[in-house]
Amino acid sequence: MTSPVLFFVDDLAEGTLAPGQSFHRADPDAPQLRVTDLAVTRGDGIFETAGVLHGHVQALDPHLRRFARSARLLDLLAPRLDVWRAAILAAVAAYGSEGRAYAKFVMTRGVEGTDLPTGWVYVAEREDVTAAQRDGIRVVTLDRGYRHDVAQTSPWLLQGAKTLSYAVNKAALREAARRGADDVLFTSSDGYALEGPTSTLLARFGDTYATPDTDLGILAGTTQARAFRHLERAGHVCEYRRISTAELPAADALWLLSSTRLAVPVRALDGRPVSVDAKATTHLLVALESTED
Ligand code: PLP
Repeated sequence: MTSPVLFFVDDLAEGTLAPGQSFHRADPDAPQLRVTDLAVTRGDGIFETAGVLHGHVQALDPHLRRFARSARLLDLLAPRLDVWRAAILAAVAAYGSEGRAYAKFVMTRGVEGTDLPTGWVYVAEREDVTAAQRDGIRVVTLDRGYRHDVAQTSPWLLQGAKTLSYAVNKAALREAARRGADDVLFTSSDGYALEGPTSTLLARFGDTYATPDTDLGILAGTTQARAFRHLERAGHVCEYRRISTAELPAADALWLLSSTRLAVPVRALDGRPVSVDAKATTHLLVALESTED
């Protein structure tokens, strides 16, 4: 097992004085954050997690673009993306080219009263999810409690930003476990499928693949975008649209997609069996587990 790598990003945002160095390596086993950092006290900040395969960061530019978008939604200073890119590549190079890893990069609102964000990149080994990719997972739908248009009506709720406040997402996963399931598909209060707490929904209806529209207060998935490129090249129709929860039982197959688990088939939804399309899953995994973005 390769040891985790930590880099702090010093020259991390527009509008701050350039420090002497752009980024520096730090000890991931030593304490590093101040207890008054707003990430710690309020979960106030943003992050991204990118997959790393044999030293290649998958979909790095889409992750950086989404990072910048999250910063805008939270009124954070704009991250200097060229510095972040260099820090991520340096951290991944320091980690080495062994196997499957992930690079998590975080920017917080900083230590209370300083107006200076804190930022770091952490690279570590990815969890083995082969069993879930092969056998599928049991998913329950849980109402997120917001309408499908929450991002437009109430942007201060930050739906669609990748913030550090994942306590709600983790609570939903515990609720799934109480209901005998492995994962969650959030739904809007007016009956549309949204996303998982850490994943994007992909549904197959016949020869057409569909994913929920990205204006529903959900994240635009980088893995889903890669999957669509592969599926379109293979001749499938791919569409972004509103998928009502009433339609889900008619889907021929469902997957949850994410940078760390790539494609995991759903084998039960709210206790009803869903057929696992092993062939399509294998095709998706071959495409996603590659250095092609
Ligand atoms: N939606 C949410 C809420 C997530 O947290 C994630 C990833 O963590 C995703 C979707 C999937 O995004 P990606 O494929 O870019 O990892």
